[in-house]
Amino acid sequence: MLALSAAALPFVLGQDLVDDFFHGAHDDSFSNVFTEASSTATEWLAYADAEAQGLTGPIAIATNFELAEGIDVNQTCSTVGQTIPLAGYDEDAAGLYVCQEEDIVTDEKLSLVRQYIADMVDFTEGVVSVPKLWSSNDITLQEDDQGNPYPAGMTRPMLEQVRTTTYSGATDVVVVVSMRPHSAGPSSGIESYSSCLVRNQFRRCVVANINFCPAAIITEPASHETEAVAARGFAVSLHEMLHILNAVKPYGKFFINDDGSQPLDSDVCSQVDGVRMITTPSVLAIAQEQFSCASLEGVAVEDSRHGLGIHWEAELAGPEIMSVGDWTGETYMSDLTCAFLQDTGYYGCDFDNIGSLVDGTALEVALTENFFNYDHWNELIESFDDPFLSAEV
Ligand SMILES: [Zn+2]
Repeated sequence: MLALSAAALPFVLGQDLVDDFFHGAHDDSFSNVFTEASSTATEWLAYADAEAQGLTGPIAIATNFELAEGIDVNQTCSTVGQTIPLAGYDEDAAGLYVCQEEDIVTDEKLSLVRQYIADMVDFTEGVVSVPKLWSSNDITLQEDDQGNPYPAGMTRPMLEQVRTTTYSGATDVVVVVSMRPHSAGPSSGIESYSSCLVRNQFRRCVVANINFCPAAIITEPASHETEAVAARGFAVSLHEMLHILNAVKPYGKFFINDDGSQPLDSDVCSQVDGVRMITTPSVLAIAQEQFSCASLEGVAVEDSRHGLGIHWEAELAGPEIMSVGDWTGETYMSDLTCAFLQDTGYYGCDFDNIGSLVDGTALEVALTENFFNYDHWNELIESFDDPFLSAEV
C-alpha cells in the first residue's frame, strides 16, 4: 500500500501554505522592475527564435545567503525570546513574533540549507534554459518603490547590493535565501515559502526569495531517514525554485507570447465548476498522451486545502514536485512541470533529465488506482501523534 510510505515518513511536512501569498493571484513583484538591456536587441525574442539563433543556454542561478547569515537582526532568530517583525512575510503574520528555540538559525541548519540550495541549483541549471540575449550587466533599477520596502524584507539598498555584488553578466536569476520563522510557530510544520521580488521588463523573475523555516529543518534524523531528509531538503528547494520560474500558476501574467505580449488568463487556463485547468499546448499534449485521453481539455490545479491554485491537483499528480501530494510517495519532477515551464514562453526544459507522470496509464485507471484520497490521508494524520503533522490537513 503506497500510502504507507507516507506513514513511514513522518518528517515529510509537505506544507507551504504561504506560497500563494506573494505569487499566484497576488504578486507584488510585477511592480518591482529591473530593465535588462542588450546590445543586439530591444524587443522580446521568442524562445524558439532565440534557440534557433543559438542564443539560449542553461539558466544561471546566483545565490545570496546574507539574510540567512543574520545580516539583519529583524530577519533571523538568534536567541529565545527575541522579537522580530514578521508582518508581511507570510499570510498569518500580523505583528511581532517571539522567537522559540526551534526558530534559531544554528550553523548546522544554515549549512544544511546551503547544501539543499546548492543541490537545487545544480539540478535546475541542468534542466532549465533561458534566452541569453539580455545582459544583466546593463541592468538599471527603475524608480518604482517610492521608498517603501520590497516584499520579503528586501529594501532598495539591499536589492542594489544584491545587484552589484551577486549579479554578474552570466546570472539569470538571483535567489536570496532567508531563514525566518513562520508566524504560525514551530509546530505549524511549515517548511518553506518563496516569492519573486523583482522582475525584468518582460515580467520574468530576476530576483527572488526562498525562505526556509528553521523549525522544520531536521538536523539529527534517525539513521534510516538520513537520505530521505536530505532528499526532502533538496525537493523543498526545487519546489520553491520552480514556483519562482512560475510553475504552476494559472494566470496569463506568468506567461509571455512570442511577440512579447501578455496572454489573457483565458489563453492559458479554463475554469469549470470551480476547477481551474491549465490548457497550454505542451501541458495538454503531455497530459493527453500520458493519460491516454485525447479529449482531455486541461490539467487541474489544486482546488482545496493548502496549496490552493498554484500546484497540480494532488489527486492527479500525487508526489510530483509541484503537487501538495508530494508526501504520498517519492518526489520527482514530471514532464508535465517541464511542459509548463516551456509553455510559459520564458524557459526551455530538458525532458531527458526527468521522469514521466503516469506512464501510459489511462486516466480512468490512474484515478481508480490512485491511493491518494483525503479520507485516507486524514485517517493517517489522525493516527500520528506528531506535531509536524498536526496542522491544517
Ligand atoms: Zn508550493
